Amino acid sequence: MTEVHKGSCCCGAVQYELRGALRPSVACHCTQCRKTSGHYWSATQTPSKDFVVTKDAGLKWFRSSDTARRAFCKDCGSSMFWQLDGEDATSVATGTLDGETGLTTDRHIFVADKGDYYEIETGPRQLDQY
Ligand SMILES: [Zn+2]
Ligand SMILES: [Zn+2]
Repeated sequence: MTEVHKGSCCCGAVQYELRGALRPSVACHCTQCRKTSGHYWSATQTPSKDFVVTKDAGLKWFRSSDTARRAFCKDCGSSMFWQLDGEDATSVATGTLDGETGLTTDRHIFVADKGDYYEIETGPRQLDQY
């Protein structure tokens, strides 16, 4: 049986399912992720074929750079998804998964861009890029 993880935004206007095993979470400290989330952004990832939006009433995609787009809930502001152009995968904010995730944090990326007001936990790898 395929494992299914459900997730949602704060207000419930965006709901989704991830149908299959998930990648461990990766915490990104780049400037864009810090701006969009208000801190750093940690995401799991799934092949886009396993990514199913089940409620899109609040879903809003926007171009976040020349090479990628992001999605958030336009009703409550939750930062939800990220897709790199030409890559058949979707990054999903791990914090938007409902209930227990069973995931761990595999690594921190773009740590050279991190904010000066916090330290990164010891344990997971820390990479200057990705
Ligand atoms: Zn919402
Ligand atoms: Zn980032």
